[in-house]
Amino acid sequence: MSTEPSASPAIDADLEREIGAIPLVDHHVHGALVDDVSRREFEELITESNRPVPAWMTQFDSQVGFAVLRHCAPVLGLDPHPDPETYLARRGELGTEEVNRRLLTAAGIGHFLVETGYRGEEILDPARMSAVTGRPADEVVRLESVAERVVAEGTDAEGFAARFETALWERSRAARGLKTIVAYRHGLDFDPRPPTRGEVTAAAGRWLREVTRTGTVRVTDPVLLRHLIWRGIERGLPLQFHIGYGDPEVDLHRSDPLLLRGLIELAEPRSVPLLLLHCYPFHRNAGYLAQVYPNVYFDVGLGVNYTGARSVAVVAESMELAPFAKILFSSDAWGPAELHHLGALLWRRATARVLSGFVADGEWTREQATRVATMIGAGNARRVYGLGEAE
Ligand SMILES: [Zn+2]
Repeated sequence: MSTEPSASPAIDADLEREIGAIPLVDHHVHGALVDDVSRREFEELITESNRPVPAWMTQFDSQVGFAVLRHCAPVLGLDPHPDPETYLARRGELGTEEVNRRLLTAAGIGHFLVETGYRGEEILDPARMSAVTGRPADEVVRLESVAERVVAEGTDAEGFAARFETALWERSRAARGLKTIVAYRHGLDFDPRPPTRGEVTAAAGRWLREVTRTGTVRVTDPVLLRHLIWRGIERGLPLQFHIGYGDPEVDLHRSDPLLLRGLIELAEPRSVPLLLLHCYPFHRNAGYLAQVYPNVYFDVGLGVNYTGARSVAVVAESMELAPFAKILFSSDAWGPAELHHLGALLWRRATARVLSGFVADGEWTREQATRVATMIGAGNARRVYGLGEAE
């Protein structure tokens, strides 16, 4: 068994070592699983599909599945490329706590920014992520969750805006950033202007009547979603946007970041960093926005995990138009610690390969390559979120 750097002649071994040692800032991630999972549950967690896995196939036969068997098996004490049964048996033998400890620690993350808005009871909260890894883990607060809590706890339409305002400040007191899933709840093709107070009250009234009718508290009204985003911008913390690829609740053709142009321009005078997450397959569009607008940043997070051996191409495309100070690293892992591990490992692997090519071609010096990898992997996030120097 070997986890030595690749022997491929295209890789600059020194650069690969340096990139391997960067204490990454995972600027958009969720907790690792709390409980053991069955094979079916595990397979459903390594895809963005929310449908059952058909009996005639396995999610292990995919880029992310092969990457789990190749790269996570050695961390669990197996040779690379075991069959899925052997892998899951070993996983079960070690137990989720030990699997988390091994895979999260080996990812080499220096600082986690953990988004807590989705199925929080099934995954480790920021404090427990920090306890497992010994690294700081700060919170990113989801705007829609704050609004839904306000309604679940009881408000009338007239009181909604003020209650949301108070709740947002309370919930985000120690947070490093905010997040919106407007792409999931409506699409990015919304009127970019802040709604008036009257529009917000009317929309809150519609929402409250819907909650009474359906018994479900879920914000989908574009007026309210715009209101949350603008209050978020006024809060002044860096604001993350889900963009592009995700589960089928996202209408992918309405999640192209180019649709955010109006909002980006209206928000520009506030100088609040807008962070476009994942962006696949629109990451080149995100790179364009990051080049032309000073308030726009992006990552290719989720796209790296799910493209596995092909993630080298995705990372290469993320380094086309955008200034290097505008690109960040994230894993967007949720659940199996394999995803946290692979997010870091595949990004390091891809970055080492792409930058080695630039150095070998004589286009970049090795010093430039190391500096840029460190900016994307950690430095840019430290600056954007005000994390200070690495400990
Ligand atoms: Zn996420």
